[in-house]
Amino acid sequence: MHKVQERRNIAVLGSTGSIGRQTLDIIAEYPDLFHAWLLVARSSADLLIAQARLMRPHMVIIADEQYYEYVRDALEGTGIEVATGSAAIAQAVTAPEIDTVVTAMVGYSGLESTIAAIKSGKRIALANKETLVVAGELIDRLLKESSSVLYPVDSEHGAFYQCLVGERMQDVEKLWLTASGGPFRTLPKEQLATVTAADALKHPNWSMGAKITIDSATMMNKGFEMIEARWLFGVMPDDIEIVVHPQSIIHSMVAFKDGSVKAQLGLPDMHLPIRYALGLPDGRLASDCRKMTIEDMANLTLERPDFDKFPLLGTAYAAARTGGTAPCVMNAANEIAVAAFLQDKIRFTDIFHIIDKTMAQARLIKRPTYDDYVVSNDEARAFATQLVQS
Ligand code: NDP
Ligand code: MG
Repeated sequence: MHKVQERRNIAVLGSTGSIGRQTLDIIAEYPDLFHAWLLVARSSADLLIAQARLMRPHMVIIADEQYYEYVRDALEGTGIEVATGSAAIAQAVTAPEIDTVVTAMVGYSGLESTIAAIKSGKRIALANKETLVVAGELIDRLLKESSSVLYPVDSEHGAFYQCLVGERMQDVEKLWLTASGGPFRTLPKEQLATVTAADALKHPNWSMGAKITIDSATMMNKGFEMIEARWLFGVMPDDIEIVVHPQSIIHSMVAFKDGSVKAQLGLPDMHLPIRYALGLPDGRLASDCRKMTIEDMANLTLERPDFDKFPLLGTAYAAARTGGTAPCVMNAANEIAVAAFLQDKIRFTDIFHIIDKTMAQARLIKRPTYDDYVVSNDEARAFATQLVQS
């Protein structure tokens, strides 16, 4: 007889963002399987309130304390608990009622709560790739000591996961990580210095939050994803090859030692990998979503990435090979540089220089502890901030 599954209680960290909103769509699509138990945002108070009224979570957290009373008053009488501050997030994810934590916060801010979720043995649907970029070594160690599992939400890593089902890692030759190439794929290198934030925010295939959209334009995102794959699948950086695929239909591929290659395809819609991750480990969730047609697959092209025009690809490989706190420093400098670029304070190509200079001066700590990451992140951010201002 078919086992009746209990509803899974889900914590959505970053529910008001691009991944968070799409996660709530999937939760709403399967009300018998999922319940949004905890919603977390930073400062989008009105959207958080609207989501809470609709989804009826047990608790909401607004990280920015200045909105706490506003959210609390708006939800008075609903029975929904309201809390504030980042310590409250790390505390709340450990609640025994929570089964799955979707980490859809952006940047370094996701690290602390992801660690808390791992330590309390949660199933984690990982969108916040920066967690693995910053502290992959530590997360890897913590996962080995915990019953927690990480399921990828990132579309490329969802593709690797699907291609690897039923395979042995020793049979894998390499991972082919696909990249759209971003909005500047065909722009001459000399013109990169003059592109604006508005230009960079026009991603050809994916609609995403502002920070990851800029990371896609610089291709830092692909460097991050290489590091993310390195930790998720236990492979070395040089076993991962980036391939530009402008249509974003092939979500990634795995090449095996017998000469076979498996690819996973789908429309460029993040609902798909989120739906897949939330279905794990039980199986796929049937959906009325738009399905692929022959026309969608009729013109697929692949090309090599341009490491000269997009130097952060090489930077990411170098940081991954060095290990220790090097990727943490790269991530911190990138966060500062991207925020400055979005505010039109620096040029696009200054992002490359700020990351290079910050990494060149940072001291490297091998086998870092959590506190080492905190210090490296703080120091790198301070240094990069000075560079932005100079
Ligand atoms: P968005 O900027 O759209 O959303 C970020 C979310 O995190 C918002 O809900 C935001 O709240 C919240 N948040 C940000 N900082 C904090 C904080 N300090 N404390 C609590 N909440 C916070 O980002 P995306 O959804 O685009 O990306 C989220 C993550 O998923 C990133 O790590 C990204 O790399 C990854 N990812 C995204 C993809 C996409 O398609 N968007 C694809 C693959 C991975 P508020 O609204 O209040 O600011
Ligand atoms: Mg991706």
